[in-house]
Amino acid sequence: MSDHTLLEDALVRLDDAAAHLNIDADVIEKLKYARETTKVRLMIRMDDGSRKSFLAWRCRYDDTRGPTKGGIRFHPEANIDEVETLAFWMTFKCAVMNLPYGGGKGAVEVDPRQLSKAELERLSRAYIQAFARIIGPDRDIPAPDVYTNSMIMGWMADEYAQIVGQAEPAVITGKPIALGGSLGRGDATARGGYYLVRHLAKDLGLDQTLRVAVQGFGNAGQHIARLLAADGHKIVAVSDTEGAVYSAAGLHVDLLTEAKAQGRSVVSTAGQGGHEALAGDALIGVECDLLVPSALENMIHGKNADTVTAKLVLELANGPVTPTADQILAAKGTVVLPDILANAGGVTVSYFEWVQNRQGFYWSEQEIHDRLQAIMEREGRAIWNVAGEKGVTMRTAAYVHALGRLAEAIEAHGTQSFFTS
Ligand code: NAD
Repeated sequence: MSDHTLLEDALVRLDDAAAHLNIDADVIEKLKYARETTKVRLMIRMDDGSRKSFLAWRCRYDDTRGPTKGGIRFHPEANIDEVETLAFWMTFKCAVMNLPYGGGKGAVEVDPRQLSKAELERLSRAYIQAFARIIGPDRDIPAPDVYTNSMIMGWMADEYAQIVGQAEPAVITGKPIALGGSLGRGDATARGGYYLVRHLAKDLGLDQTLRVAVQGFGNAGQHIARLLAADGHKIVAVSDTEGAVYSAAGLHVDLLTEAKAQGRSVVSTAGQGGHEALAGDALIGVECDLLVPSALENMIHGKNADTVTAKLVLELANGPVTPTADQILAAKGTVVLPDILANAGGVTVSYFEWVQNRQGFYWSEQEIHDRLQAIMEREGRAIWNVAGEKGVTMRTAAYVHALGRLAEAIEAHGTQSFFTS
């Protein structure tokens, strides 16, 4: 694990990128701090009649390029450092993809598995009651993140509509299709990463059947396993909070998704279809070509990075590789496709949802896939070229690419030299 806060680690990447660009000092001064972070206590009535309070946050990190955009996480270990860091990453992610957004994020410190469905609905609505003045279709647009889903987004959109007295579907993305959600949003994060790997496979020397290990088997992890398996790649290992399963011949993805749909761990499939149980910690070092961290931050760190055998790491999770692990992987020649590019398919289709809500005209699933693929390939190729030209990692290249766009927008308000000449 790193000794630094998550935000301090994230800012290392900003400094690395700035060293490759001729940008004004104002830009770094602006991007070093979150613009606005609000903390509240949500009080809800529990099913047993008692009242319980939960800490909640919403951060708008930077809005120079447009309204802030970012998911809401429900997690027992959520904290302000994590929220601000996730919002910082969103700022860069939206710039990487050239979406007209800044970066934001929200969270509630809660283990949603301890709540009944009715309590979960009350908590989701309480979040919007607390933050209705901060969010808005032109101000700050939430979306799902870890342990939140489309139904929760639907409750939240409904609560916002009741507060403002009219339907405002563009206030939140990742909604159910019937409530103004977009086709193709469900698997967009994984699909974006999948298009990226497919596009760069030849350049990476990985134009063959891949052995894939997936850490975390939620939205991102399940969809990437399904998409890659459908192309004939072998999913050799997957994990969730309870452990991992392994099969050199390839796991049966349908057995795994069925287990998750029934509320069971992937480990419950051990013994079926050649699946063997494995310690969760061992997944990072499993023999494979492609490792897909799809759980939480800091999963590949100074103590386990050396065990990675994969030639390619696709960061579907946000922040799964610490800066120390980055150096170890780079020295081994492992290529990391960084989170701000690799998992940006989610926010890109969220952007499509927002556009469709605002224009009141909806696209087909194929149109969504085609537009997503075009953007992933365009930005992935541009970052690949920056990495080649500057001789840097894909992560530094992605930050250079995004920082160039952020700097252009910040500098357009005038820099020190403009005001003193
Ligand atoms: P999710 O809640 O659907 O799934 C998370 C999964 O991670 C669960 O299967 C959980 O069991 C597993 N997990 C948690 N801790 C683990 C551990 N220590 N070891 C192994 N597995 C563990 O969440 P999600 O939406 O799939 O998000 C996963 C990651 O992807 C997060 O970092 C999130 O920020 C990122 N992400 C998600 C989206 C999206 O659209 N869903 C978009 C961009 C980034």
